[in-house]
Amino acid sequence: MSFNNLQLIEPVLQALGKEGYTHPTPIQEKAIPAILQRRDLLGCAQTGTGKTAAFTIPILQLMHGHPEPAQNNIRALILTPTRELAIQIGESIRAYGRFLPLKHHVIFGGVSQHSQVQAVRRGVDILVATPGRLLDLMQQRHISLSHIQFFVLDEADRMLDMGFVQDVKRIISRLPAKRQTLFFSATMPNEIKQLANILLTDPVKVEVTPPASTVDMIQQSVYYSEKQNKQALLENILQDQSIETVLVFTQMKHSADRLAKNLNRAGIRTEAIHGNKAQNARQNALANFKAKKTRVLVATDIAARGIDIDDLTHVINYELPNVSETYVHRIGRTGRAGASGIAISFCDWSEKIFLSDIQKLIKKTIPAVKGHPYDVPAMHSLPPSANTSASPVSGRRSPGMGKRYGRTFSQRA
Ligand code: AMP
Repeated sequence: MSFNNLQLIEPVLQALGKEGYTHPTPIQEKAIPAILQRRDLLGCAQTGTGKTAAFTIPILQLMHGHPEPAQNNIRALILTPTRELAIQIGESIRAYGRFLPLKHHVIFGGVSQHSQVQAVRRGVDILVATPGRLLDLMQQRHISLSHIQFFVLDEADRMLDMGFVQDVKRIISRLPAKRQTLFFSATMPNEIKQLANILLTDPVKVEVTPPASTVDMIQQSVYYSEKQNKQALLENILQDQSIETVLVFTQMKHSADRLAKNLNRAGIRTEAIHGNKAQNARQNALANFKAKKTRVLVATDIAARGIDIDDLTHVINYELPNVSETYVHRIGRTGRAGASGIAISFCDWSEKIFLSDIQKLIKKTIPAVKGHPYDVPAMHSLPPSANTSASPVSGRRSPGMGKRYGRTFSQRA
């Protein structure tokens, strides 16, 4: 199937050609015709599947086909949990809509609202927003949703994780009843299903690439190492100059900063992004990384959520996550839209239990690299049941403690 079979208008096809897209991804193949037929949509898909284009392209086309006689009304609202995702969706609209005369704007918190208010006043067809700032501007009467015809709720499960559900519900209560709604979520826990039931009318359901099969396309390996040798191990791996850029994950903000500092000292250009950094600093770090000015970007999970970096070939888990699904999200940053990728994980004694949980989730054993300079041969032979026993070197942890510790402090960033 090519994009030519999807009844797309010429300006959109031209824009896709400029992006270098030749074939729709599975979610695009299924979602675009349904949305063009004005159906509501329930999409079960994670980032990396091409879902942004799957909803952006048909909305652009429908809006272009039905110009609004009244001026300055926002006709499409795309709600997304993070600033980074909002900016990326804005970039997609700019790319796919480059030959269409539609105006869009992106609003999010953490920065001055002045330019956002000015842009909305000048008139915007499509608004991309995070929930908090949108509610703020609605309460100040800078934004009205009374002319919304298209509503997209992106990454609904993340909204739930991040505690935005009440905000989302308040926003929904202000939308016109007559509208087309597109609902996307990587997972469908009960609360999300209920929200979808409230929002959608007779939706077309599209489900693509459950996380475990995305993982299959990525070449994964694990390097056992003592905790204190991880930095040297990373530097050793980065001697391979064919690794042009790499996204490195740590669990904690302070370890992200420390690692970035140490790598810079070792002459490896590195920046860190995490929730404590100002929005501008995060955007700059991301832009430098995308432009390949920085070789290593160290990130915590929340800061990296939904970050879309084309051509990212390597992801390194400097520290393994204690929530197995997070591993799948992390390594899914590479291997996007069908490309292959490489995911390397460092594992010290205290993390062996996390590795074992991850392997259960993805239903495969991640091959361990043997004989590297910081290898710990004893870790290769221990069964998972002995995973949490204290390291002979650090002597820190009892088996029960490892598990409890890991579960209690979930998703730190
Ligand atoms: P998303 O799931 O929306 O975050 O998209 C993941 C990545 O796939 C982005 O880098 C898009 O630019 C890219 N992409 C989306 N659709 C296509 C396509 N049809 N062909 C090639 N790349 C695509």
